[in-house]
Amino acid sequence: MNTKTSQFTTPLIDPFERPISYLRVSVTDRCDLRCVYCMAEDMTFLPKAQVLSLEELDRMCSAFVDLGVRKLRLTGGEPLVRKNIMWLIRRLGRHLESGALDELTLTSNGTQLARYAQDLANSGVKRINISLDTLDPDKFKAITRWGDLERVLEGIEAARAAGLAIKINAVALRGVNDDEFDRLLNWCGEGGFDLTFIEVMPLGEIGEQRLDQYLPLSMVRGDLSKRWTLTESDHATGGPARYFDIAETGQRLGFITPLTHNFCEACNRVRLTCTGTLYMCLGQEDAADLRAPLRASENDGLLKERIYEAISRKPKGHDFIIDRRQNAPAVGRHMSVTGG
Ligand code: SAM
Ligand code: SF4
Repeated sequence: MNTKTSQFTTPLIDPFERPISYLRVSVTDRCDLRCVYCMAEDMTFLPKAQVLSLEELDRMCSAFVDLGVRKLRLTGGEPLVRKNIMWLIRRLGRHLESGALDELTLTSNGTQLARYAQDLANSGVKRINISLDTLDPDKFKAITRWGDLERVLEGIEAARAAGLAIKINAVALRGVNDDEFDRLLNWCGEGGFDLTFIEVMPLGEIGEQRLDQYLPLSMVRGDLSKRWTLTESDHATGGPARYFDIAETGQRLGFITPLTHNFCEACNRVRLTCTGTLYMCLGQEDAADLRAPLRASENDGLLKERIYEAISRKPKGHDFIIDRRQNAPAVGRHMSVTGG
């Protein structure tokens, strides 16, 4: 840290005394799939000039690490379709080596993992979240609009062979994959993967009826407990998931239920988009532009000042609602913007 920025040594604490130690970064809004709950088929992606360069993403993430962030998760869009993404990941790996960062991880759709898994492991990545909603090739094609399940399964195998710990994320969709939950639990058990079900969140106009897809996870859990021994686990990530140990498989099962369970009290995270906009809460519109201060000078002083300012506005919680009176999205941006 140079002399001008050495004043910025206080850790990031929000107005509700929550330390901010986790940054999720969407490194691109682009994706090679078009999951029906996430994107419209004909998405317009951002012009390149608005998107932070890899060097800028490195500066941005490193500023947060300087201010006490201990965990970085790269997401998107699909992080692994960003050109030269391995450059950024290797570069951020230096913070793992120095001990400034505890964890560098990714959320990926798995399509590019056969190519990148070993490089990721070599760069210090130890765990990865892979999104997979179904094990049925036709359903996979329907959910992702054109994806090839086989390719994702190869990616998952490559990640396992590279020694990465894997957590599978599956969005629970009424009438789509709700007949496959037992199969997913079994398959994850055999592969040694944890599994997390995610409730559909009302983000972005996607041209589908949210109410039709929405499946409360409290119901899913109730049903699964008839056949599986689920014991609440004390595993906590500061995130929106509640975890259970599955006695039959020895793996963990998580439920991310932003709509039916309030998880905001322990929130330790903020989200940065690929244009350098910082969202202090996934479910609120308030945001801070960090691209302008980043580009305004080569020194990080102004940028860090703006980061402190933004954290001082982090709200207490979100207000997602899906009901019959309010079927419009509670938040207009897509999940691919803030990366989930
Ligand atoms: N492309 C990567 C992937 O699919 O894992 C990373 C980005 S994706 C936006 C991150 C996660 O958000 C995925 O697990 C996806 O299933 C989930 N997601 C996307 N839209 C969602 C929505 N409307 N409600 C709940 N989860 C959603
Ligand atoms: Fe792409 Fe991930 Fe969104 Fe699916 S959920 S469209 S893979 S960004």
